[in-house]
Amino acid sequence: MKKKNVPPRRPSGAKNIRDGESRFLFNTYRRPPMVFTHGRGCHLYDSDGRRYLDFLGGIAVNALGHAQPDLVRVIRREAGRAIHLSNLFHNPYQAPLAQKLAEWSGLSRVFFTNSGSEAMDGALKLARAYAHAKSAATGRAKKTRILALENSFHGRTFGAVSITYPEKYREPFGPLVPGVEFVRFNDIADLERKFDDTVCAIVLETIQGEGGIFPVSEAFWKHARTLATEHDAAVIADEIQCGLGRTGRYFAYQKFESAPDVVTIAKPLAGGLPLGAIIANEQFASAFTPGMHGTTFGGGPLVCAAALEVLKVIEKKKLLKNVQERGTQLRAGLETLAGRFDFIREVRGEGLIVGVDLSINGGPIVTEALKQGLIINCTHEHILRLLPAFIISRADVAEFLSKFEKVLRKVYRTSSSGPVTARTKTETHKQPVTMAASR
Ligand code: PMP
Repeated sequence: MKKKNVPPRRPSGAKNIRDGESRFLFNTYRRPPMVFTHGRGCHLYDSDGRRYLDFLGGIAVNALGHAQPDLVRVIRREAGRAIHLSNLFHNPYQAPLAQKLAEWSGLSRVFFTNSGSEAMDGALKLARAYAHAKSAATGRAKKTRILALENSFHGRTFGAVSITYPEKYREPFGPLVPGVEFVRFNDIADLERKFDDTVCAIVLETIQGEGGIFPVSEAFWKHARTLATEHDAAVIADEIQCGLGRTGRYFAYQKFESAPDVVTIAKPLAGGLPLGAIIANEQFASAFTPGMHGTTFGGGPLVCAAALEVLKVIEKKKLLKNVQERGTQLRAGLETLAGRFDFIREVRGEGLIVGVDLSINGGPIVTEALKQGLIINCTHEHILRLLPAFIISRADVAEFLSKFEKVLRKVYRTSSSGPVTARTKTETHKQPVTMAASR
């Protein structure tokens, strides 16, 4: 008889896995000790059979949770057909997926990539190519400068890291891509000072993710749009973390009146398989002509079929509504906790991209949460970040809030004896002054 829901094979032993990684992998990640073997819905299970409530979702990737049956079915089906064809040939799923992304975004054309960073690099190349073509046609001065925002994170490849603000990401790798300048976050005067005819693009995360869940203001967005139009430059919205439904809208920028020229996406697009995309309006998309840009793997049939299914499930199950409702429930619960724990300075976010800004170091809270069976993350050392799956239930959020309160109590109790590094209430963030002022 065919067995349904076969339990996953246990690995040969958590210790062997840890030892092997420490011996043979580049030393780039600090990982906690447990080894996850499988997931179901919003839960992950480790090699000892312990269950964890996943409020990180693979860093905003697992929008449908783990082992979602429709997605699993499509991946199985396509794996038996053709995993890869190369971009030298037509592909049955790229156009339908691109059409759906054009409908969701209000833009026109799509280029598929393997990751967010690759999408960012491609978007920067697109903006430069557009500017070069215009210069050649009109004889006007070269436009090569790129503006990005302070506190940004856009990825690790050379282009993406060159527009990423924190020095720790850029400093070891210089010289970087030239022509990048950073604008103070949400500071319109600084934007106006730096924006002129030599700028080919302004890049911004509609909601800064790694930076600690900081939304771009409506006024700043509007000014960036106006200046970009005036100077024939591109507005590039990095929606890799905040896009594709995470705010309860298809794209975070859809709360603004005006649209960007170029949007980058990745993380949840193919439900955990590697797929990103650059989406652009006709004006900018046409700057790439055959042979100018490409990728071997990007947009293969299996990943595109999976992405189509992800978008279909988001629509069919009305997950945007769930994101809005569960986000409201989660933030209300966190606000209540903020009234009980004075080290919670602020709860920020929209939908299911939520930051809990602390006046203490968040590391011990993440560690204690794992011990209590909760997966969360901390960015900038003091901002807890929650990015659960779009399918999260009312009961899951309630369970999270109750366990999270226990975690906070435990850390609060032990804080005087040492594990928590206290920050004074008045101590300013390591963030730009304008950002603190904008909150
Ligand atoms: N942009 C943003 C806003 C991101 O959050 C990330 C990843 N954290 C990236 C770009 C880079 O994406 P990837 O890791 O897929 O290259």
